[in-house]
Amino acid sequence: MNINQIKETQALLKKAQKIAIIPHKNPDGDAMGSTLALSAYLTIKGHKATVVAPNDYPHFLKWLPGNKEVLTYTHHSSASRNCILDADLVFTLDFNHFSRTGDLEEVLERVTAPLIMIDHHQQPSDYAAVTYSDTSMSSTCEMLYHFITALGDEHLINAQMASCLYTGIMTDTGSFRFPSTTATTHRVIANLMDKGAINSDIHNQIYDTNSVSRLQLLGVALNNLVVLKEHRTAFITITQKELDNHNFKKGDTEGFVNYCLSLQGIIFAVIFIENTSDQIIKMSLRSKGDFSVNEFARSHYQGGGHTNAAGGKSDLSIEETVTHFKTLLPLYKAQLAI
Ligand code: 5GP
Ligand code: MN
Repeated sequence: MNINQIKETQALLKKAQKIAIIPHKNPDGDAMGSTLALSAYLTIKGHKATVVAPNDYPHFLKWLPGNKEVLTYTHHSSASRNCILDADLVFTLDFNHFSRTGDLEEVLERVTAPLIMIDHHQQPSDYAAVTYSDTSMSSTCEMLYHFITALGDEHLINAQMASCLYTGIMTDTGSFRFPSTTATTHRVIANLMDKGAINSDIHNQIYDTNSVSRLQLLGVALNNLVVLKEHRTAFITITQKELDNHNFKKGDTEGFVNYCLSLQGIIFAVIFIENTSDQIIKMSLRSKGDFSVNEFARSHYQGGGHTNAAGGKSDLSIEETVTHFKTLLPLYKAQLAI
């Protein structure tokens, strides 16, 4: 944050009593960790802050401090709408385009109060009075630590907020292994541990609360793995039927795509997940090195994200989607060929 952004933020906070805080649709650890930490911080500062999530999120995030106070648009649409439209100030966290909020988009379009964006994705849109955007950051949670520190309030970060921020940094960095993890990230993590975040407990809550059916779904996914060695690419498909047969719950397929990247020599990985109710194939794309899955998802799959992690969707059937995907790979020969 530069000095002008800090001053502008302070001026906006001074005038704001009711504040709404919005994560992206299908919120992940970084989205829920950052919004809940910000909500706790603003509450300590005397504001009335409410997190409004576009839709539900996985059970492994429901232990986060403040979770019970979250309004979910799909469950409480009129309360959510009123909260956002009555707010004096609206924060949007971990996304940079209203379209990333699904059905909440039309509500956000009607906001007349000023907005503050805190986000680490590429190509931010310009809806906010303060745009704190930094694509070099590991996570929005790391940015939120810097944001609170820039406002002179690092001392207000308590154990609950520290646990939320630790969670988002951990999940967005693949437990501190992606290249976005810097020495500063580790310093922030160390400070959060000093403030009461218990690393082993958080890791257990996020990664060691599997159901048997989820592990069996992973078995199905790994069975469906296809390796295209000549393109240094691997992908996984999961059909709606396979999800249904394994009592699928939100978040169950989280992390599956990373198994593709654990194969020696593979630098591009995709998971295609059929969703018959939305009539789309949801895709998660991952890469290693310079191959930009953000650009790939933007160009071909109505999506985006970061250089090494992006999402998108296809309106074709799962078979047609895979066939079409394979025809694209030769176009990226310069980056993907051995
Ligand atoms: P995931 O594959 O885990 O859903 O998402 C990976 C990254 O891409 C996240 O940073 C997420 O915010 C972003 N992302 C996922 N889906 C989309 C999408 O449809 N559009 C855009 N612009 N970004 C996405
Ligand atoms: Mn993030």
